[in-house]
Amino acid sequence: MILIFLGPPGAGKGTQAQRIVEKFGIPQLSTGDMLREAVAAGTEIGKKAKAVMDTGNLVSDEIVAGIVSERLDQLDCKPGFLLDGFPRTLVQAEMLDSILAEKKRELDVVLELKVDEEALVFRLNNRIAETIAAGNEVRADDNEETFRHRLSVYHEQTAPLIPFYEKKGLLKEVNGMASIEDVSDQIHTLFAELENA
Ligand code: AMP
Repeated sequence: MILIFLGPPGAGKGTQAQRIVEKFGIPQLSTGDMLREAVAAGTEIGKKAKAVMDTGNLVSDEIVAGIVSERLDQLDCKPGFLLDGFPRTLVQAEMLDSILAEKKRELDVVLELKVDEEALVFRLNNRIAETIAAGNEVRADDNEETFRHRLSVYHEQTAPLIPFYEKKGLLKEVNGMASIEDVSDQIHTLFAELENA
């Protein structure tokens, strides 16, 4: 199973992705996590990415597509994988099409987590408070101003992927405002439908 998770920042993609990973034994490929690892490791890519990430803007299409393409060659991606945070622009979606074609793989489904954005800002502020209360460091891009900027970047650059995948007949909507359990159930129902289709 090869799937993409689409949805604005804070929609719960990471949480649901982890559940799918556990249930189906496929890896979660989060470009945000990969870039943060590169930043922490101080690699050339990490150095280039850090300044852009801190502002909430997008790292270059070529950099992220390169990271994803390399990652797909690892053995654990053989049974399938879940893309979380990639593609994020139409150019990336087209790059992904070429990468998959080259590797003779095919996308099965794109899940769009639909959410109410003001609720996302509320969730973000809760998450910041919880992170601070747990004594952990808050991500540099986790503050309300940068978050609102990331939402606008999502609308301008990522939301056009919704009609792009709809036209390909790959898009499935999930109500992301439901509880974590309920969102998981919706996703499992969709997977069951896909298997029986
Ligand atoms: P995320 O953890 O998915 O919210 O990503 C955090 C930040 O990493 C984003 O705000 C971007 O700066 C960068 N990033 C992650 N994925 C991508 C991508 N596919 N294309 C460009 N930038 C990305």
